[in-house]
Amino acid sequence: MKKKNIVKKLVKLLKKRYGKTVRNYSLSNREVFKVLITTILSQRTRDENTERAANNLFPVADTPEKILKLSHKKLEKLIRPSGPYRQKAKRIKSVSKIILEKYKGKVPKTRKELIELPGVGFKTADVVLMYGHGIPSIAVDTHTNRVPKRIGLIDEKAHVEEVKATLENLIPKKDWYIVNLGLVQFGREICQPIRPKCEICTMSKYCNYYSKILLE
Ligand code: SF4
Repeated sequence: MKKKNIVKKLVKLLKKRYGKTVRNYSLSNREVFKVLITTILSQRTRDENTERAANNLFPVADTPEKILKLSHKKLEKLIRPSGPYRQKAKRIKSVSKIILEKYKGKVPKTRKELIELPGVGFKTADVVLMYGHGIPSIAVDTHTNRVPKRIGLIDEKAHVEEVKATLENLIPKKDWYIVNLGLVQFGREICQPIRPKCEICTMSKYCNYYSKILLE
């Protein structure tokens, strides 16, 4: 089956499973800033640790101004559950300063400007664009990278930027949000890194990984 048709099956499956989670995005500046800071907090740690750190931080400081008013010690203490908290505290301070001074307190709306911020890589920039500003941009995380490669839509050796470009080329823009969100959930629930649940997966008919298992 052609890749375009396999993608259609995948999009249909993801819409069916996760379609209800689609929301009206494009958040207020304060909320976009929180998306950005949460994404920095989430680097190299588990979701539950990110959540604990964010729940400590945002009731105290949820704008660049408020973050800059915190002492380093206080900020470090608040975000301690997020793993390498000293490094993250420095980044959060620098990001807040730049946003305040260079962008008048508004989180930038282009990938180029976002990746110039300290500690902001491609994935973080794409998350902020997509889930904060509501600007379609597929963010490639571990699940978004693994699932399409297993199915055979993307070469195993492709770099994350190639994965992003291929997905954005294969999937209609109107579906980027649900596919991005859906692939992450699907990767957590079904196409897990170890022992994917192929026996209950409706993509198995079109999946390279599953065909290989059958041949073993
Ligand atoms: Fe993942 Fe298995 Fe489904 Fe393929 S068949 S997408 S490997 S869960």
